[in-house]
Amino acid sequence: MIKITLPDGSVKEFAPEVTPMDVAKSISEGFARNVISASFNGTIVETTTPLTTDGSLILYTWNEDGGKKAFWHSTSHVMAQVLEEMYPGIKLTLGPAISNGFYYDVDFEDQKITDADFKKIEDRVLEISREKHEFKLRPVSKAEALEVYKDNVYKTELISNLEDGTITFCDHSTFTDLCRGGHIPNTGIIKAMKIMSVAGAYWRGDEKNKQLTRVYGISFPKQKDLTEYLELLEEAKRRDHRKLGKELELFAFSAKVGQGLPLWLPKGAALRDRLEQFLKKAQKKAGYEQVITPHIGQKELYVTSGHYAKYGADSFQPINTPAEGEEFLLKPMNCPHHCEIYNVRPWSYKDLPKRYAEFGTVYRYEQSGELHGLTRVRGFTQDDAHIFCTPDQLDQEFKNVIDLVLYVFGSLGFENFTAQISLRDQENREKYIGSDENWEKAENAIINAAADKGLKTVVAYGEAAFYGPKLDFMVKDALGRQWQLGTIQVDYNLPERFELTYKGSDDQLHTPVMIHRAPFGSMERFIAILIEHTAGKFPLWLMPEQAIILCLSEKYEIYAKKVLNLLENHEIRALIDNRNETIGKKIRDAEMQKTPFMLIVGEEEEKNGTISIRRHGQEGKGNSTVTIEEFAAIVNEEIGKTLKTFTV
Ligand SMILES: [Zn+2]
Ligand SMILES: [Zn+2]
Repeated sequence: MIKITLPDGSVKEFAPEVTPMDVAKSISEGFARNVISASFNGTIVETTTPLTTDGSLILYTWNEDGGKKAFWHSTSHVMAQVLEEMYPGIKLTLGPAISNGFYYDVDFEDQKITDADFKKIEDRVLEISREKHEFKLRPVSKAEALEVYKDNVYKTELISNLEDGTITFCDHSTFTDLCRGGHIPNTGIIKAMKIMSVAGAYWRGDEKNKQLTRVYGISFPKQKDLTEYLELLEEAKRRDHRKLGKELELFAFSAKVGQGLPLWLPKGAALRDRLEQFLKKAQKKAGYEQVITPHIGQKELYVTSGHYAKYGADSFQPINTPAEGEEFLLKPMNCPHHCEIYNVRPWSYKDLPKRYAEFGTVYRYEQSGELHGLTRVRGFTQDDAHIFCTPDQLDQEFKNVIDLVLYVFGSLGFENFTAQISLRDQENREKYIGSDENWEKAENAIINAAADKGLKTVVAYGEAAFYGPKLDFMVKDALGRQWQLGTIQVDYNLPERFELTYKGSDDQLHTPVMIHRAPFGSMERFIAILIEHTAGKFPLWLMPEQAIILCLSEKYEIYAKKVLNLLENHEIRALIDNRNETIGKKIRDAEMQKTPFMLIVGEEEEKNGTISIRRHGQEGKGNSTVTIEEFAAIVNEEIGKTLKTFTV
């Protein structure tokens, strides 16, 4: 008998040669019908692969990434079959699943695939799928594989790099492909498929090689899923932060300043400042102290921290002083500077924890092709902090950081998230620095803190950094897309490298534990995600302009100024639109700017000392005429719904 461990920790015994599908059926027939892929001891297997040793088995349905991957990769086989059918003589290369769908890189030689062909390809893929062909993996010898692909230089190159005895082909219908596995049981569950685009791609990503055609596709188990996906894509385009950032005048890029270096325009800077003040206020209550460090540091600093050895070659190159020959690097992270702040004086265990916070701007070299709006930039500001504590304080500190992160998410309308606990790979403990005892302490601190705070968690073994375990918050935005936001990371490495110490109750010197944490991650990336999550309709407390005063004619400008002053007394951010435009045009422009309240003033309002409210996106609805005091109460009540006071 072999022992199969399931993700819930339960262990079941089976006769050798049991397949993942058999195991699924032993759980329930209903569950087994939904299982489409599996992984065994961390390796993707077919649902029909006989298992011969003890091990951990994960069964995937469409709802898990593992299931989607197999689904999409399997569809790429069917698409390749159709491409070969429709364009005889083409050369297939590789067809993997990607985060949304799959692609196949094809050498079409003198043939050409055009948009006009997409529909025909899609229809044929579905026709073949309906025939319910099984995907069957079979081993082949290297010689046989080379013979089959003797006319395909790409597959020949792939096979040449494989070890004889490890090569497999996958058959379905009349089609065969070189493949190491990871398929759904049969084509029958592919119910919707669309070719998204074609693009050029160099063989092996090397521009010295021939340019191939990359055909991107996506598929789903229901037609409805495809329709929803396409609608989501349209909505994502409308919400693209690069587009909205321009429309809302938040940020810009300049070719002269340099790519990947965002310029914050007044409205964007005000928004960012409000976010920073919000976090600073909460951090002050949570016992953090603000520090400020320079944008560069001596190369030696990063040699000590280990960053130079790891990232030095892929960073911006050193800046040299003309006379002294000193070498400085642009700061890629704030941690080394903060370690040196800790080192300024000796500490006793009674002084700890020390919590140093800084909105620290860092610079990282990203290839120009990788740059993307505010989400991938070369200069960005982290809402960074480093906590130095004793191992005994780790548990409580971790819980405190989680409280702060949850407060931040709650105030900004991110309600849907999971926390990923990244632990050591249990099989390869020697990969990690630090004692077993400390690791166990840290891992347990994270697990307990997450459970204590009632977080929805997933555990990822082997995902810890080499210097410590971490907790990552994976947030789902309004479009259901997942983003990694806040990170909390335990570190045993840097305190040792910087020889940080504190005097313990035993009068001996000990090394403190360090926690790195950043609830936003970076201001740039966070604001990009916030723009797309809210479509620019930020929580009211954060809006650059909460209200705009629209005069029905210039006769009421003096009254409008009076209203503005009164609003300022109530700390409401407002502007007057006194352009010589029609009221209709002013409303349309304010709608475009997503200003939450339009306050219309005319003869009636001036006479009665009131304002007429028109809310963003609510034509005619909810409009009312109120006094300034009543309006201030409405604004404050609404702000109070999202922005709570942080308590410790
Ligand atoms: Zn395959
Ligand atoms: Zn750090």
